[in-house]
Amino acid sequence: MPELPEVEALALDLAGRLDGHAIARIHVAQFSALKTFDPPLAALEGTLVDGVGRHGKFLDIEASGLHLVLHLARAGWVRWRDEVPTIPPKPSPKSTLALRVVLDDQSGLDVTEAGTRKSLAAYVVRDPQDVPGIATLGPDPLTDDFTVERFREILEREGGKQLKGVLRHQGTIAGIGNAYSDEILHAARMSPYKAAGKLTDDELHVLYDALRVTLGDAVDRSRGLAASELKGEKKSNLAVHGRTGQPCPVCGDTVREVSFADSSLQYCPTCQTGGKPLADRRMSRLLK
Ligand SMILES: [Zn+2]
Repeated sequence: MPELPEVEALALDLAGRLDGHAIARIHVAQFSALKTFDPPLAALEGTLVDGVGRHGKFLDIEASGLHLVLHLARAGWVRWRDEVPTIPPKPSPKSTLALRVVLDDQSGLDVTEAGTRKSLAAYVVRDPQDVPGIATLGPDPLTDDFTVERFREILEREGGKQLKGVLRHQGTIAGIGNAYSDEILHAARMSPYKAAGKLTDDELHVLYDALRVTLGDAVDRSRGLAASELKGEKKSNLAVHGRTGQPCPVCGDTVREVSFADSSLQYCPTCQTGGKPLADRRMSRLLK
């Protein structure tokens, strides 16, 4: 799933390609992806693109006072095409195409979803705050006003909740998902199960720096890359996420995995949990 750094880079890449162009047509190939009906999708046709931005993990294409907002979810992606076919796409359960935006010069972008869950979401709104997932977003962790004091307030409010869950909860902090929460905790050398509200002052600063550096570096590396290059870039720079069974790049210990909420998390026992593997809570409950 694209997280803050990838969506930031996507927005930057698309801004360069879309700015100043008019949207000629929009085709929907997966009707379940479109979550709004007023204004209608057709209201975007003939509008001029003013800019492309980001809210958390949401991509926002602004055109003449309207916004086409995309949430790429688990398996969604955006593919730029220098020339899109002139024949409108046919809805097909076999195709990954969800939405096609055609520009005035017949270039355009395909919004695709490879997953079977169909959780990709597109919204046409007059104000991005009309999208429920945007209205409830927590602060963006890369803005100047996301200070260590603000971070302290957030973590203290979360009390006994586990860091892993707090970091990736969009209403608490915007833009961090399963991958970067693993990476941030590894960089901070902290257990994903550690209670958010019980950090010492030193730990708070360590975690804050890990968060800003991990996300900032990922944004810097992604900036200037085309959409097609972003996934590979992300994957090749992860230390623990998605690397179960491989050596930790810091200490060489084997990266381990436990289930967490609706997915799994990866961590390094030596770097993060004093060498002790975490108990897989779902497993131990099943074995009782
Ligand atoms: Zn390690």
